[in-house]
Amino acid sequence: MLQAAEKSGRDPGEVRLVAVSKTVPPDKVREAIAAGLNIFGENYVQEARRKIEALSSPTVSWHFIGHLQSNKAKYAVRLFDLIHSVDSFRLAEALDRSARKIDKTQAILIQVNIADEKSKFGTTAFETRELVSNISRMKNLSVKGLMTMPPYFNDPEKSRPFFVALKNLKDRLSEDLQLPLEELSMGMSGDFETAIQCGATLVRIGTAIFGARN
Ligand SMILES: *Cc1c(COP(=O)(O)O)cnc(C)c1O
Repeated sequence: MLQAAEKSGRDPGEVRLVAVSKTVPPDKVREAIAAGLNIFGENYVQEARRKIEALSSPTVSWHFIGHLQSNKAKYAVRLFDLIHSVDSFRLAEALDRSARKIDKTQAILIQVNIADEKSKFGTTAFETRELVSNISRMKNLSVKGLMTMPPYFNDPEKSRPFFVALKNLKDRLSEDLQLPLEELSMGMSGDFETAIQCGATLVRIGTAIFGARN
């Protein structure tokens, strides 16, 4: 990761590693914490809750990266420092309401379905502007940027146009809506180097750290 950042002329401090620990048992996560990793990404609220309670480390930050249902909003705001996967007004409203109850400003990213795939969650690039604009008025949410998961390719170069499109969308929205959108969550085990070249600030890496999931 450091090498990828340096190779693309970026300050390595601008890119943070989210270690994706879904299905990884708490013991292995504990080892990863001991080795110095400090941000973990989880996809399922129940699984994350058990792990976070078991590990309870004040130096570790937990991010939610999976599909979130509105009825889990109240748990999510208690557990996660950043939610990468907000993709609807309804979910945003539920998170805003739950965050207000615990007096928190919840940091979120908007998940964009940048390739407009039928099988994927996320707003279309077209709808993103209106969603970000509406959410920016919610008092207990703070939109930090955008997240995407492009179609899967064996060749990471094929992801590049989607990463570039997300970066351009973020820059355009920041300017048009006058919002400080800074985060770009993109890149996984197979394509994080390309994502870093395209401006990723958060890369979500699972199998390259923990090995294959069953
Ligand atoms: C599982 C997952 C990852 C990690 O994928 P790897 O290929 O194991 O690095 C990243 N992002 C999301 C949203 C995921 O669900």
